[in-house]
Amino acid sequence: MVMGYVVSLHQEVPIVLAMPYDTPVPGYKNNTVNTMRLWSAKAPNEFDLQEFNVGDYIEAVLDRNLAENISRVLYPNDNFFEGKELRLKQEYFVVAATLQDIIRRFKSSKFGCRDPVRTCFDTFPDKVAIQLNDTHPALAIPELMRILVDLEKMEWEKAWEITKKTCAYTNHTVLPEALERWPVHMFEKMLPRHLEIIYEINQKHLDEVAAMFPGDVDRLRRMSVIEEGDCKRINMAHLCVIGAHAVNGVARIHSEIVKNSVFKDFYDVEPQKFQNKTNGITPRRWLMLCNPGLADIIAEKIGDDFVTDLSQLRKLLDFVDDESFVHDIAKVKQENKLKFSAYLENEYKIKINPSSLFDVQVKRIHEYKRQLLNCLHIITLYNRIKKDPSKTFVPRTVMIGGKAAPGYHMAKMIIKLITSVANIINNDPVVGDRLKVIYLENYRVSLAEKVIPAADLSEQISTAGTEASGTGNMKFMLNGALTIGTMDGANVEMAEEAGEDNLFIFGMRVEDVEALDKKGYNAKEYYDRIPELREVINQIRDGHFSPTEPDLFKDVVNMLINHDRFKVFADYEAYIKCQAKVDQLYMNLREWTKKVIKNIACSGKFSSDRTISEYATQIWGVEPSAVKIPPPNIPRE
Ligand SMILES: *Cc1c(COP(=O)(O)O)cnc(C)c1O
Repeated sequence: MVMGYVVSLHQEVPIVLAMPYDTPVPGYKNNTVNTMRLWSAKAPNEFDLQEFNVGDYIEAVLDRNLAENISRVLYPNDNFFEGKELRLKQEYFVVAATLQDIIRRFKSSKFGCRDPVRTCFDTFPDKVAIQLNDTHPALAIPELMRILVDLEKMEWEKAWEITKKTCAYTNHTVLPEALERWPVHMFEKMLPRHLEIIYEINQKHLDEVAAMFPGDVDRLRRMSVIEEGDCKRINMAHLCVIGAHAVNGVARIHSEIVKNSVFKDFYDVEPQKFQNKTNGITPRRWLMLCNPGLADIIAEKIGDDFVTDLSQLRKLLDFVDDESFVHDIAKVKQENKLKFSAYLENEYKIKINPSSLFDVQVKRIHEYKRQLLNCLHIITLYNRIKKDPSKTFVPRTVMIGGKAAPGYHMAKMIIKLITSVANIINNDPVVGDRLKVIYLENYRVSLAEKVIPAADLSEQISTAGTEASGTGNMKFMLNGALTIGTMDGANVEMAEEAGEDNLFIFGMRVEDVEALDKKGYNAKEYYDRIPELREVINQIRDGHFSPTEPDLFKDVVNMLINHDRFKVFADYEAYIKCQAKVDQLYMNLREWTKKVIKNIACSGKFSSDRTISEYATQIWGVEPSAVKIPPPNIPRE
C-alpha cells in the first residue's frame, strides 16, 4: 500500500511517513475543483522493529509517538517566532513531503522528458510555482537544491537558476519578533546537509554583493543569511529573498516598507524582484454566504455579475441618492443587527440594544492592533456619561473579540482588562442602555460570519506601519460597516478607493511615527497634558475596574507609560475626537447610510479574485485559459 512519502530527519526520529489528506476546493461555477493537500506524520510499520524484536514492545509503541507528534499540534502564535525544535521538524516535514510530491508529478508528466537515466528539468519553472507563504516553508529552497544537486546530479549553477525561477516569497509582517531566525546549532543537529547548502548559497550571494560594493563590510554583515553573535542564527527571510525571483508585500504601504526598510539592502541590489499584491477576501463567503440579505438587494439593482467581478459594485454609486435603496440598505443592516442580538441572547444570555451603534473590533489580540486604545475610548465614554448623566449620548454597544496566544501574557491581560471594564460599565445603573461592552468569546470564522454583517463601525486602529494588510477591514467594508482606522495596511487603499472622507481616518501616519521615534516617544507627556487620558489611566491603575484586586493592571499601565512600542497615548486624542465625529454622523441615519453605500460600492478592489489573478499573471507567469473548461459529462438516463 502506498500511503505517502518517506521523510528522513537526521538522528532521533530517522524516518517518518507523510500521509496526504486531500480537501477539495471547488471553484465558483467554473467546472474546476482544486485540491488542498495536507500532511499527517505516521510512523512506518517497521518503525522500531528493532526494539520490538528484542522484546521491548512498550518502548516500540511509545516511540511511534515521536514520529507522529510532528503533526499533532499547530503553534498558536500570531506574529511571533518561537524557535522550538518541534516547529522546525514540522516545517521540514511539510516541505519534504510537498517537494517529493511535486517532483513525482513533474517526472510522470510529459515535461519531465526522461532519457533512460535523467529527467530534464529545463521546463520545471514553467510548470511549477512554489509560492512561499511567509518564511515558514523557506526550507523548500535548500531542499529543492538538495534534490537537484545531490539526487539528480545537476550542476550547482543550473540547479540554482531553476530554484530561483520556481520560488517566490510573500512577506506578511515587519515586526522583528515575528521573523524566523533559527539557531545554526539546531540545523547542525537536524538538517546538516541543508545547512551546508545554505552556507554555499550565502557564500555565492555575498561574493556577488562584495563585487558590487567593494570594501562595504557592514553591508555584507547586514545582508548575510548567517547572523553572527553569541548564538549564530539563520535569517530565513534573507534566504527567501535571495532564493526567490519575486518578493511581495500584501498591501501597497507594506510593500513600500518592505522595499525601503526591512529589505532595503536587497532592494538596492535587485529592485526588479520587488512587487506588491494587495490582499483580498472572497465575496462568495464574505458577502453571498454570510449576508444574503445584502447580496440580494445589490443584485436587484445591478444584477449578479458582481459575484465573479466585484469591481462591478461601483455601479451602486448611481444609487447613493436613491432614497428607497438607502432605506433598503439601512433595513438589511437593522435586520442583521436584530439577528445577531437574538443570537447573543439565545447562546449567551446577553441582552443588547439593537438600535445602538454596533462598534466592533474582532481580530487576534496583539499590542500592535491596539485593543487597548479602544478600551481607553470606552472608559472615556463611561466617564463622560457619569459626569453629565442628563446629556444625550449616542447609544453604543462595543464588541471586542479575539484570541490571545497562550504564552502571550500581555494579550491575556488586555482581555482581562476589557472584561473587567465591561463588568463595571454594564452593571452601572447610571449608564443604563447607553453603553454596553461585550467580549465575544471564541472568535473564529463562523462567528466572524455572524458579527460582521451586523456591524456599524469597524475598528482598524493599529499603529501606522505595523499591520501588513489586514483582511478583517475588507470584510467589514463589503458588509456595510464604516471604518474608523489609521493609515495602515489596506486601510490606505480602502480610503483611496472610497475617498478619505468616507472613512474615519485619524492619527499618526508612518512618517509621523518615524519622526516620533527619532525624537523619542514619551508617553508621560500625553498623560500630563490630557486630563481625560490621565483620569482613565489613574482609574485602571487604582483598581477602579478591579476593586477586589487593585494592582491587577499595574503591568498594563506600566507598559503604556514606560515601554509602549505601539504608542497608544500618541493617538488617543485624535482617536477620541474621531469617535465623536462617528457619533455625529450616526445621529443622521440617512447620511450614514449614504457613506455605507459608497463604501460597499468601492470595495471591489478587495476581492481575492483580483489578488489571485495578479499572483498568476505577474509572479507565476500563467494567463487565464482562452477556452472555458467544459462541464463534466453527466450521463443521461
Ligand atoms: C478575517 C479574519 C481575521 C483577520 O482579521 P484582521 O482584522 O485582518 O486581523 C482573523 N480571524 C478571523 C476569524 C477572521 O475571519
